[in-house]
Amino acid sequence: MTLDGLPPLREVIRSAGLRASKAFGQNFLLDLNLTRRIVARAGIEPGMSVAEIGPGPGGLTRALVESPAARIVAVEKDRRCIAALESLIEAADGRLSVIEADALATDFVSLVPAPRAIVANLPYNIATPLLIGWLRSIDDFDSLTLMFQAEVADRLLAPPGSGAYGRLSVITQWAATVRRVMELPPGAFTPPPKVRSTVVRLTPRADRQAVHLPTLEAVTAAAFGQRRKMLRASLKSLGAADQLLRAAEIEPTLRAEQLDIDAFVRLAHALSDLRGNGQDQAAAPQIRP
Ligand code: SAM
Repeated sequence: MTLDGLPPLREVIRSAGLRASKAFGQNFLLDLNLTRRIVARAGIEPGMSVAEIGPGPGGLTRALVESPAARIVAVEKDRRCIAALESLIEAADGRLSVIEADALATDFVSLVPAPRAIVANLPYNIATPLLIGWLRSIDDFDSLTLMFQAEVADRLLAPPGSGAYGRLSVITQWAATVRRVMELPPGAFTPPPKVRSTVVRLTPRADRQAVHLPTLEAVTAAAFGQRRKMLRASLKSLGAADQLLRAAEIEPTLRAEQLDIDAFVRLAHALSDLRGNGQDQAAAPQIRP
């Protein structure tokens, strides 16, 4: 589908009086070649449904409407953007619905039929809590193609031993394979943000080990909460740190950033056993809490 008849995005913004709001994290992409490139890298296949968070004036949404997606559901909190999207909704011939809602309070699994993907230039102030929510049911999605501020994307991609490696790296890399798709300078956006941005694509890991996710979260929170300390000290808040480390076959003098994902999973299993919720990990191959 081509959308040649639509007004330029700058005109849409002008006629809707859509002055970018900081509170809504609004940094718009107005270059359709760029939004098409992002969507091309998202791997949308015919028959798939796509959820977009924060369509704004619709730059990325236009590229999604041009893609083979069967259906696009865009969730936007700013009512002014919904008005600005009217001509695109009409041009999309029933394939695009725009819902006025808070993405943080939206259940995308019941809203969007499977097979489903998410493609979004996220509002940076809520990007991490949104991602953590989706990771908790990652198998419900074929892929997530998401724009983050570069510093957050670096944490998602960070290998053990690097300075950016932390709680978010462990939870994300346990749940999904993460790939860097594209880097964007501030000047690609209107208005330009203060930071660089990175698009990453996450796909559920088929080889993931079963684990009780809240326990994995507890272990990573304790370990990285005092990342400079040795694990025998940083894990004390969980109780029986020495016993946990012995059961997980981990040297007590190591620090959190030296452990790979498998080691954190072993620690979570040891903590589950200690707390008597060891059965959860067998019964819960999904990562729902
Ligand atoms: N997709 C557009 C683009 O690429 O040009 C806009 C991206 S802008 C970075 C983030 C968008 O998310 C804005 O349109 C903003 O209004 C919207 N937004 C902010 N907070 C939101 C929330 N809690 N729920 C849904 N949308 C939100």
